[in-house]
Amino acid sequence: MLEVSSIKNGIVLDHITSGNGVKIFNKLLLHKLVYPVVLLMSVSSNEMKKKDIIKIENNIDIDLNFLGLIDHNITVNIIENSKIINKKKVKIPSYIEDIFPCHNPRCITNFDNCAKPTFSIVNEGNLEYICNYCEEITTYKL
Ligand SMILES: [Zn+2]
Repeated sequence: MLEVSSIKNGIVLDHITSGNGVKIFNKLLLHKLVYPVVLLMSVSSNEMKKKDIIKIENNIDIDLNFLGLIDHNITVNIIENSKIINKKKVKIPSYIEDIFPCHNPRCITNFDNCAKPTFSIVNEGNLEYICNYCEEITTYKL
């Protein structure tokens, strides 16, 4: 496997479904970080045929709900002194707040800045969420 300098202190997002790495990179606005960030694409993997990996040389705050929504296969590794000190598996969030807008144009969350859109999962298979204000179903799309 090609060697890319490993992280001393930071975060490694592993087991990203091949092709999702760029989307996550863009959604998390990683190009705006002032720390070294590496995006590896189409890496061979035992469990998955191909995977993407993102390495960030700093322990930034990442929204795990958001990651779970984009790709629930991801493992988040927290690295300290070049060792993995914590491993978290993301999952499809059952409750989300302020990640995407409500599908209903008349929903209060679309015109009142104080009302943040919050949703509860109704169908994990196709990422269908019900709005907690108007009960409209919104399907999350990448
Ligand atoms: Zn709504």
